[in-house]
Amino acid sequence: MKSAHKPGRGAGARQPTRITIEMTRMAGAPPLPFSTADESFMRIALEAAAVAAAEGEVPVGAVLVSRAGEILAVGRNQPIGRRDPSAHAEIAVLREAAAKAGNYRLPGATIYVTLEPCVMCAGALVIARIERLVFAARDLRFGAVRSKFQLADSPLLNHRVRVEEGLLAAEAAVLLARFFEGRR
Ligand code: ZN
Repeated sequence: MKSAHKPGRGAGARQPTRITIEMTRMAGAPPLPFSTADESFMRIALEAAAVAAAEGEVPVGAVLVSRAGEILAVGRNQPIGRRDPSAHAEIAVLREAAAKAGNYRLPGATIYVTLEPCVMCAGALVIARIERLVFAARDLRFGAVRSKFQLADSPLLNHRVRVEEGLLAAEAAVLLARFFEGRR
């Protein structure tokens, strides 16, 4: 019997240097299942992220939208300015919307974020009973819904957020890359 060929060292065996922001979806990605409304909400989140960058904060923006499609809050990353480690964009919109609603739970809401949420924010989304999370770019270092952990839709928790990613990921990644380049 002929001995089988050993599999060769295929193309792509070597990984390029790992970067924080995943940009693989920028080229040749299949069309994503997002509506034009989704896109317009994410564009508002990107504008908030640009404001954060202008303030010297890591550019991350978020928009919280009700089940009826009404914007409940727009927020941006501000931990430096507020001297508050919890002042992430997601926490900002959850706080504002919960205060307006008079309820820490925001069932039926969708959150649009320009970067994959961290551990703290992923946990807060579950506690707030957010129905759907749409994020743009992955955060390979701190991302807690896909990259490092999968907290938002974990079968171990009592509430699962529907997670969709990649909407306007290139725009979000470029914003972040420019920000970090400028700081070097
Ligand atoms: Zn966060």
